[in-house]
Amino acid sequence: MFTRYEGKAWDQHFLPRLTYQEVKALNKEDALVVLPIGAVEQHGAHLPVATDMLIGEASITKAFEALAPGSNIWLIPPLSYGKSNEHIDFPGTLTLTAKTLQAVLEDIGDSLARSGFKKLALYNSHGGNVDLLNVMAREIHVKTGMTVFVTSSGTGNVKDVFTEEELKWGIHGGDVETSMVMAMKPEWVHMDKAVCEFPPIRDTKHIGLIGAKARLAWKVNELSYGGTAGDATKATSEKGDTVYLRSAEEMAEALEEMAAFELDNLLKTTT
Ligand SMILES: [Zn+2]
Repeated sequence: MFTRYEGKAWDQHFLPRLTYQEVKALNKEDALVVLPIGAVEQHGAHLPVATDMLIGEASITKAFEALAPGSNIWLIPPLSYGKSNEHIDFPGTLTLTAKTLQAVLEDIGDSLARSGFKKLALYNSHGGNVDLLNVMAREIHVKTGMTVFVTSSGTGNVKDVFTEEELKWGIHGGDVETSMVMAMKPEWVHMDKAVCEFPPIRDTKHIGLIGAKARLAWKVNELSYGGTAGDATKATSEKGDTVYLRSAEEMAEALEEMAAFELDNLLKTTT
């Protein structure tokens, strides 16, 4: 379980709990600011539309709990809304347009740079945000000079927990996400409505959804009857706990590496 505003992530690393003078006094040289970006969108008949924002907040909370004591890594208020126009045919999907999300990220980047911060991680928990976040990371870097990373909540290594098919194609509301919501908010999951449905596009040679030679632009109702991709019927809260545990360890390590990374020194080390 996790509770927003409680525990190490929120008590010790939540930037807005500081006063402006405390923010001013922070050592900005290696301070890393983490902006979680989620989504509010349909996740099938069995999961709440808050699934991606919830998973993002829970994962980053656990990752901060796994940080070394005194880490100069700061969480800023999660952006619950993302770009979800692949789900707009379903009620409850609350999406920003690409332009709006772009503008919001640019404004937050400008504000952080103005406050003196030099490093930013965009922490994503929704697949539909990925392309835009990659674009915006470079835009913010070029405009402000900040070092910007794009990272995601991910799963850690869970090949022993989920099937190969699930890890490849269970991209939305399947075993992984359902288990993760169950571990945090079991009463928000309706397992009596859980189904197994994989995208019907798996047999094409070049056309695919992720990482394919010919990447298809799709809306979810063109790939799925119920709005999901994956086998939600196999979900358990124990699997969800394992995902949080393993992804938190990996993410904490990655955050420390991002905080210590010196882009300006990269070329100097290869002379
Ligand atoms: Zn999701």
